[in-house]
Amino acid sequence: MSGAAQRALCPACSRTVLNNRFARCLYCGAGLAQQDLAPAAATVQFDAEAARQQQEEARRQQQRNESLDERREGVADIIGELLDNLPDIGDLFD
Ligand SMILES: [Zn+2]
Repeated sequence: MSGAAQRALCPACSRTVLNNRFARCLYCGAGLAQQDLAPAAATVQFDAEAARQQQEEARRQQQRNESLDERREGVADIIGELLDNLPDIGDLFD
């Protein structure tokens, strides 16, 4: 996977660093390793508006993940219920 843009991961929460011009993880606020930051990071001032947008994007992404998890749990529930209500089919294959 060398073709894709290299995306650094937060050392604290292991989420993808959405914007490596910021010296902090937008999810958990942890400081990022210097080598994970864009070269200009040292001189970029923290831009509140850009940060707000990034945070919104992070939140959207998180919500997407959560709704995916919910759907997965829902499917697992349904399967579990089906298995509970099925007669023991193991006997059929003895
Ligand atoms: Zn983090």
